[in-house]
Amino acid sequence: MAARPTPYLDELNPAQRAAVEALDGPVLMLAGAGTGKTKALTTRIAHLLTTGKARPNEILSVTFTNKAAREMKERVARLLGQTVEGMPWLGTFHSICVKLLRRHAELVGLKSNFTILDTDDQIRLLKQLIVAANIDEKRWPARALAGVIDNWKNRAWTPQNVPAGEASAFNQRGVELYAAYQERLRTLNAVDFGDLLLHMVTIFQKHDDLLAQYQSWFRYILVDEYQDTNVAQYLWLRLLAGGHKNVCCVGDDDQSIYGWRGAEVGNILRFEKDFPGATVVRLEQNYRSTAHILAAASGVIDANKGRLGKTLWTAAEGGEKVRLIGHWDGEEEARWIGEEVEAMQSGTRGLDPFSLDDMAILVRASHQMRAFEDRFLTIGLPYRVIGGPRFYERLEIRDAMAYFRISVSPEDDLAFERIVNTPKRGLGDKAQQKIQAMARANGVSLVEGARLLLAAKGLTGKGAAELGKLLDGIGRWHGATLDDTASHVELAEVILDESGYTTFWQNDKTPEAPGRLENLKELVKALEQFENLQGFLEHVALIMDNETEEAGAKVSIMTLHAAKGLEFPAVFLPGWEDGLFPSQRSMDETGLKGVEEERRLAYVGITRAEKLCTISFAANRRVYGQWQSALPSRFIDELPEAHVDILTPPGLYGGGYGAAGMANNIEQKAASANVYNSPGWKRLQERSQSRPTSQPKESRGIVIDAEAVSSFTAGNRVFHQKFGYGTVMGIEGDKLDIEFEKAGAKKVVARFVVAAER
Ligand code: ATP
Ligand code: MG
Repeated sequence: MAARPTPYLDELNPAQRAAVEALDGPVLMLAGAGTGKTKALTTRIAHLLTTGKARPNEILSVTFTNKAAREMKERVARLLGQTVEGMPWLGTFHSICVKLLRRHAELVGLKSNFTILDTDDQIRLLKQLIVAANIDEKRWPARALAGVIDNWKNRAWTPQNVPAGEASAFNQRGVELYAAYQERLRTLNAVDFGDLLLHMVTIFQKHDDLLAQYQSWFRYILVDEYQDTNVAQYLWLRLLAGGHKNVCCVGDDDQSIYGWRGAEVGNILRFEKDFPGATVVRLEQNYRSTAHILAAASGVIDANKGRLGKTLWTAAEGGEKVRLIGHWDGEEEARWIGEEVEAMQSGTRGLDPFSLDDMAILVRASHQMRAFEDRFLTIGLPYRVIGGPRFYERLEIRDAMAYFRISVSPEDDLAFERIVNTPKRGLGDKAQQKIQAMARANGVSLVEGARLLLAAKGLTGKGAAELGKLLDGIGRWHGATLDDTASHVELAEVILDESGYTTFWQNDKTPEAPGRLENLKELVKALEQFENLQGFLEHVALIMDNETEEAGAKVSIMTLHAAKGLEFPAVFLPGWEDGLFPSQRSMDETGLKGVEEERRLAYVGITRAEKLCTISFAANRRVYGQWQSALPSRFIDELPEAHVDILTPPGLYGGGYGAAGMANNIEQKAASANVYNSPGWKRLQERSQSRPTSQPKESRGIVIDAEAVSSFTAGNRVFHQKFGYGTVMGIEGDKLDIEFEKAGAKKVVARFVVAAER
């Protein structure tokens, strides 16, 4: 029998090839970023198919995201030179488990058409159970219980086998409520996300015959990003691989970044114990990045203590050093990156041009995206947000915007509907129907209808009192929007406070809550660049109108977590400041665990870059409504100097970073013992110290030089966040008459304008 050709093997180095050709028995591939683990894994699938060892439906391959799963399918097809007919078991843990559970739902008391609850449903259910158990929901909120239960599910603990040591959880009532919750889910014929794995583990543990059937069915098992599996996922894999042991796991302990969601690096170490005699493959050549980028990444990760340790090298010598730049504040950072992306696109930085598709901005926290999205919209730079909604599409942002809309325009019925019972005010469907009926009968808005309803005593009790409070609030807020002298930024804060919306998230104990509060703060910050709430709402309406995905190249924005496994020719890593990255929470933790996970995230970030990596930090960030000077991230100290170029911050030398392109300030290079010794950084510090941490009200907004404001004269070219570029025609007190290039003549407050170079 003539062997079928295997040209794809020629693309591999000997170590990869060994991992691919060792088709039978357990294989563990433990190697650093960009060494071709995913490539080896996909080639292994192609090889299994080509050699006839397995049919497509006999291969179980697990990846971490849907995007990764799609890419893996495409890669296999490319290797084989043909589309693969069905790879039904290639997907994420969750997508594979849903399919399995639909087949065997009855074994855990469900029907095969069970529903999968989202977080909101889950919380509502838990709340009912807490109330039924006579527990004070205010002190013991449902979201906290949801966190506890998720955590137990990640460890594959059913209510029956939660260990005794956990008995104190949720005021001693955790286990009991967990059992009640599971029972309730069963009667509802529903599962939550964590159940998908938990139920499958339970089924396989209890039904040997079924397990044996699947063991022989899934003849080969492959797992990418193995370092991020949690215990439930691990147990599930171990059960399925238990018979033939044809399991190949690939991962990198240095890229373990889901500890906060129950992932355990220990699973890597357990592998060799659970699968004795495993072929352990180490890959050391990185094919993705230049030597400078790799050295910078290695320098950072070296500071972690608990590592398995490995060597990495690349044949791609030379290239650009990792670029480091400090900015005055986050807005300036976004402005600079916008300009830099445009410059790199047209190849004016002395480098070959990059397509927008080749560039990515990777942030630590999703609220950082706002500044970039706003900036890119202003300059018309196409972008996409990967792995999550865009900033203004987020739940908490939409809610807050509805509050702003109803304050500006009390006739906005859609906004009213959104906020009338958010946060909960005891105004459920019935009450809302009464309001609507009243409004319809009188031909008035819902707000007016609600007023009439209250006047007619058509609503009583707690709901009536709460509705009265809300209507008073809307009346007050609306009045304030009409007052020109009031600060709309403060008004926005007042609205979110008085409505109870901020408190609602403060009381929320889910892992997402802090992020949502950050987003709300970021929203208020965004307001500063507009003259009033109305202007801001228009801006956002325009953005949302632009929502349809247009074809064409786009720069990508995503979190570092979402960037795992991906690669881009050019990567920007903004916000490297202590408190943001590493996060304040990780720094507050006792022990090193938290900061070490953040450092692995830094390593993931740098190693996404192929040719150019640019790290930046800002000297000032607004935190809790106050300007605070920020310190550059401790990870910046860990970057090996020889592989870093320090760029001159643009705002500091009157635009010194300009025509000369990439050319660095020579003086600065000489002095670059480390970042803090650079004159740019010193000047930033001096300015930061001469400035009160809490800004006087009139200089809130885009931070600009006080001198710059007074020094505007007719003829100056300026930039306004909303109206774009223009020329100063006249000055009147703190207002400027400006002829904008696109928006025409406008009178704007001077502090909303910055001097433009071009
Ligand atoms: P990560 O840890 O970031 O997930 P990885 O180890 O999975 O990285 P891959 O994404 O598989 O790495 O490979 C990184 C890059 O190197 C890809 O562009 C891939 O095509 C290329 N590559 C992998 N192996 C080889 C090889 N033997 N020869 C040439 N290029 C290779
Ligand atoms: Mg990979």
